[in-house]
Amino acid sequence: MSAFPKAICGADDLKGRFLEAERSMEPGRVVLEEMPRAAVLQREFRASHCSYCFTSIDKSSETIQCSACGEETFCSSICKSLARNEYHWLECQHKDLLDQLGPEAVLALRLLLADEPDNIKTSERKRAKIEKFDKWPSDFDLVSSLMTHENRRSEKEIGHYRKVARELVQVTSTSSNESWSSIDKDVLFGFVMRHLLQIQCNVHAITALVVDRREMGDHVETQNQVRLALAIYPRASLLNHSCDPNVIVSYERRKLFVRTLKSVSKGDELLHCYGPHCARMRFRERRKALREQYYFDCVCSACSTEEASERELGHRFVDLFVCGRCNGLLKACDDENVGSCSTCKKSFIMKKKFDNYDAAQKIFDAAEVHKENNDFDRALTKYHQCLKIHKSLLHKSSKTLGRTHDSIAEVYANLGLFKKASEHCQASCVTVELIFGEASMELANELLKLAQLYFNSRQAKEALQMARRGLSIFSRYCDNTDERIIELKEMENFLEQIK
Ligand SMILES: [Zn+2]
Ligand SMILES: [Zn+2]
Ligand SMILES: [Zn+2]
Ligand SMILES: [Zn+2]
Repeated sequence: MSAFPKAICGADDLKGRFLEAERSMEPGRVVLEEMPRAAVLQREFRASHCSYCFTSIDKSSETIQCSACGEETFCSSICKSLARNEYHWLECQHKDLLDQLGPEAVLALRLLLADEPDNIKTSERKRAKIEKFDKWPSDFDLVSSLMTHENRRSEKEIGHYRKVARELVQVTSTSSNESWSSIDKDVLFGFVMRHLLQIQCNVHAITALVVDRREMGDHVETQNQVRLALAIYPRASLLNHSCDPNVIVSYERRKLFVRTLKSVSKGDELLHCYGPHCARMRFRERRKALREQYYFDCVCSACSTEEASERELGHRFVDLFVCGRCNGLLKACDDENVGSCSTCKKSFIMKKKFDNYDAAQKIFDAAEVHKENNDFDRALTKYHQCLKIHKSLLHKSSKTLGRTHDSIAEVYANLGLFKKASEHCQASCVTVELIFGEASMELANELLKLAQLYFNSRQAKEALQMARRGLSIFSRYCDNTDERIIELKEMENFLEQIK
C-alpha cells in the first residue's frame, strides 16, 4: 500500500495517535487499505458467506466445510487453511460454547490469538508510549493502546466481561498447543479482559448490501445494508470521529478502505463518522449517542457550529421556518419567540409555528408506527397530513421536510405505486442536494433509489438520467465492485439498449 496517496500516523500529547493526510488530496482518493487483525462473521450469514473472507456464496458454487464441527463454510481451501492456522485450530472443539458467548467474545479470542505467545510473554502490559513515528507502529502495539474506558463501565458490565474472559482463558490454556498452554493464566486473563473492553469502542461492523428478492408484484427487490461481520482494524482504529467527516470507510469482503470524501490538505487530521452524522441527527441526539457508546463529547466543526447557533437562536429555531408571506427564511430575533423574515422583514410570533411543528412531529411518529406494522394505508394518510403542515412551515432545504418525502416514497414503493413514489423521492433528492451538494454520497444514495423507482415505473428516460448522475458520484468514492455501481451500470446498459 504505497503506490497511492496515503495516510500516516500522527501523534500529539493531547489527542494521542490519529490519522493524518500525508499530502493534499482530492475527494474520492484511497488513503488507507487494511486487512483486519481479527474478524468474525455473524452467525446468521454462515450458510451464505465464506467464514474467512466473507465472499458471498451462491447455491451453485462449490464450498468446503470444516469436517470436524460442520459449522463453518469456506469458499476455498485457501480460506479454510487460513482460518485453521489463525484460530479455527482452537475454536473447532469449542463451537457451542463460543456461539453461546457471542461474536464479541469470539472476536476477543481471535485478537488474543493474533497477539501471539511471544508478544504476550514479553509484553509489560502497559500502554505503549505515544511518540511521533516515522513508520507505522506494529499492529500489536496499536491494538495494545486502544482505549478500554474501564473506569466508565458499570460493575455489572465488568462482572459480565470477567465471566466471559474466564471462559476464554480456560479454552486457551487447556489447548494442546504448548506455546499457549504454557502462558500464565493471569496474564492471559489480563489480555482477554482488555480486548473485550476495547472491542466496544473500536469494533468495525463490516457492512454489505444484501439483495432481498422476495417479490412483491413486478420488480420489487429491496437492498438491505446488513452487518455482516465484526472486525478490528488496528490502523483504521486511529480514525477519530467527526459528525461532518472528511473520509468514508467501506469494505470489500474482509478488506477495509478509507477514502477522502472532501478535499484535504497535507497534515489535516482524517476524520470519519462513527454513526451519528450531522445530516441524520441533530446536535443533541448526536451528543447523547456518542456519550453513551464512545464516552466523549464531540467538538467537531458541525457540533461547535450547531451548539453556538442553538445558544444564539434558541434551540427551537434550528429548523428552517419560512415566511408565510414571501417564503423567505425566518431568523430568530432577540426574543426567541419572535422571528423575522430575512427577505421581506415581516416579523412573526413563533408560538403558532412551533405548535404546528410539534403537532406535525406527533403525526409523523404515528405514521411511522403504522409503517412498522405494514399498515400502509393508514401510514400514508398520516404522512400526508404531516407533509401538508411541513410544506406550509418549512423551507425546501429542511431535513425534516426531506425526511417526510422520503418516508412517503418508501411506503408508495412498498405498495407498488412506483410513479407516486418517484415524485416524493425526487422532492427528497432536492433537499439532499441543497444540504449536501451535488457531488455528495448522500445525494448518490438518494439518486440510486430514484433511478430504481423510475425504472420500476417504466420512466426509462428519467431512470437513465438518474442512473448516470448516480454513477458519476459513486465512481468517485467506490470501486467497480461496489454493489451500487454494479447495479447502476446494469441499469444503464439495459436502458441504453432499449432506447
Ligand atoms: Zn473465502
Ligand atoms: Zn471446525
Ligand atoms: Zn460532532
Ligand atoms: Zn417574507
